[in-house]
Amino acid sequence: MTRENDLKKSFKRNMKKHKGNKKAQFIVVIVFAILAVVSFYFNKDKVEPSVLQANGNIEISYLDVGQGDSAYIRVNDFDILIDAGPRSDSDKLMKQLEEKNIDDFEIVIATHPHEDHIGGMTKVFEKYEVENFYMPKTTHNTKTFENMIKAVTNEGLKPKVIKEGTTIELGEGARIDVYSPMHESYDNLNDYSPIMKLTFGNNKFIFTGDAEAESEKEVLDKYADKLKGDVIKFGHHGSSTSSSTEFIKAISPKYGVISCAADNSYGHPHRETINLIKEQNIEAYRTDTQGQITLTSDGNNISIKTEK
Ligand SMILES: [Zn+2]
Repeated sequence: MTRENDLKKSFKRNMKKHKGNKKAQFIVVIVFAILAVVSFYFNKDKVEPSVLQANGNIEISYLDVGQGDSAYIRVNDFDILIDAGPRSDSDKLMKQLEEKNIDDFEIVIATHPHEDHIGGMTKVFEKYEVENFYMPKTTHNTKTFENMIKAVTNEGLKPKVIKEGTTIELGEGARIDVYSPMHESYDNLNDYSPIMKLTFGNNKFIFTGDAEAESEKEVLDKYADKLKGDVIKFGHHGSSTSSSTEFIKAISPKYGVISCAADNSYGHPHRETINLIKEQNIEAYRTDTQGQITLTSDGNNISIKTEK
C-alpha cells in the first residue's frame, strides 16, 4: 500500500465520520426542537387560566371543629380535606365527615403544624385511605405533629411539599394554585400556611390557613392580580394579625367565613376583622354561631347553607 492510498483511505474515513456527525447533529437539533415545542405546550398548560370550564357542582364545607380549622371539598372525583381541627373536637370532625359518604381522600392538606389544625389528622388517617398528603416544609417538636407524620408514613405516603408555585389539578374545570409559603423559613409557624386559590369554573375560593399579615403582604406584592375571589376563609380564625385591609381588598370577596369556637380565649374573631367585614360589605358566616357552613356552586352561582 502506498502512502498516497493510505492518505486517501484516511480522508474517506474522516469524511464518513464527519457525515455521521452531521447526521447526529441533525438528529440532536430535531430532538431539541421537539422538546422545545412539547415544553412550550406543557408550560402553556401551567399558566394559570382565569376561567375554567366546569362540569357538575363543587361542595365546600367549612366544618365546625371548635377553636380550629377544617374544610372539606368535593369536586369532580376528588375528596379533599384542608386541616383537621384540634384533637378535642375530632369526634365532631369525624361525625361531620361521615355524613358526607366519603370513600377515601384523594388529597389531604395540613396547612401548618399547630394543634388546632392537625389534632384530628390521626383519626382521619385511621378511618380513611389517603392518596396524597401535602404540608409545608417545616417541623414542630410536639407529640401531635409526630403522630401525624407517623400516620402519614403508616399510610405508605411521603408528605408532598406545598409552597409557592404548587398547582394541584382537580379534574375538569378545577384546580388549586398556591402562592405561599415563598421562603424556606419564617419566624412565625403560622406563616408557613399556604395562601391558595381553588378555582372552579368562574368561582374562586381563597384559603390561607393561619397566614399572618406579613405573608399576606408578600403574596399581595407578587400576585395581586391573581387574588380576586368570591369567597375568603378569613386567616387565623379572624385574628387582627391576619386579613389586612389591602389583602382583603385585593380579593374583594362577596362571602367570608370565620372558623372559631364560641367564647374562645383568643377573642377571635377580633374587632378589626369584624369592622373590615362591614366596611368591605362582605357577607360573613361564622362556625361558632352557625355551625358547619356549606357552599355549593355550579361554577357560576354560589349558594350557602348553614347548620344553625
Ligand atoms: Zn389556627
